[in-house]
Amino acid sequence: MKIQRETFYDCNKNPFQVTVLTIGGTKPGPVMTIVSGQHGMEHSGPCFLPELAEELDKADIAGTLHICPCANPGALAMDYEFYPEHEDLSKINDYFYSRFRHNYSPWGIGRGEAETEYNMNRLWNREGTGIAYDITKWIWKNFVDQADLTLDIHCLQASKPLIYNDFDKNNFLCALTGIEAVFQCSPNRSAYAAGNLNLQAAQREGKYAFCIEFSAQHALKESEYELGKNAIRNLMIKMGMLKGEYVLPDRPTWSIPVNCWELAHIFKASHTGHIRYYFGEYDRVRKGDKVYEIRDIQTLEVLETGFSNIDGVMGRISYLPVMKEGENICNIYPAEEIPREI
Ligand SMILES: [Zn+2]
Repeated sequence: MKIQRETFYDCNKNPFQVTVLTIGGTKPGPVMTIVSGQHGMEHSGPCFLPELAEELDKADIAGTLHICPCANPGALAMDYEFYPEHEDLSKINDYFYSRFRHNYSPWGIGRGEAETEYNMNRLWNREGTGIAYDITKWIWKNFVDQADLTLDIHCLQASKPLIYNDFDKNNFLCALTGIEAVFQCSPNRSAYAAGNLNLQAAQREGKYAFCIEFSAQHALKESEYELGKNAIRNLMIKMGMLKGEYVLPDRPTWSIPVNCWELAHIFKASHTGHIRYYFGEYDRVRKGDKVYEIRDIQTLEVLETGFSNIDGVMGRISYLPVMKEGENICNIYPAEEIPREI
């Protein structure tokens, strides 16, 4: 394994090292580049990728695999989305994450408040000053620019991982990850949102790229590490980089269309009470199926029952234990199974 380390300095001259692990590189074949840890509260990729690199280092690999597990070390060390180098960093000591105030920022520059240039995954191929810009430039020039397939690994808050994909050409690869849902996104977005690694990498002719989101932020979720390793091994087999058998779950991979918001059955609560769901994330739901019930906390009577008015899959299940009037409950998304080309 070849290990490359580059030192970057923030505006206060604090040094940070970014490490890239390279495997293979002796036999001809495709180039695959994996970047994770752009957002500091997303620890799955940063934790399982060094282990996977050690495992793959013993395998016979065609082509080259570059892995940058911790692209944003300053942010990861703070367990915060970005590294706000010009702000008072000590404010992180009074920051206690809660999913009930998910977008709260101790510096008042959270999502919804500002389009901050500290957010590394908005800076790819854009010009600007700061450590996050410097790191993206180095990774792009040395590892992504050459890559036939780029994987950008993140985490969100959900019960299962998902994929965000901007171009149909990636679907055959997404289906071999074993991840159950591929949310198709529009590549036409604002300049800020377009500074996203998977869009920048995938919009090039003949190149593939998409984003895998594991399902825990500000936490460790070891139960998903093997799924992540399997996804990457399967992709390497498909790319002709690794010999072996595909390992895939018996559940399908669903493509959820760009305009899913218009077509979905979106449930909003009309009552307050305890909620009981009858489907899990990405389960298939048929038109007419009972999706949930809300029960009164005092009388225990069922106040409300939701039935799907479309065929689709369950998604966006609320994390609220006590549902409140007007809250989003869950969505039934229209979905098509992506065939697996094994
Ligand atoms: Zn992220």
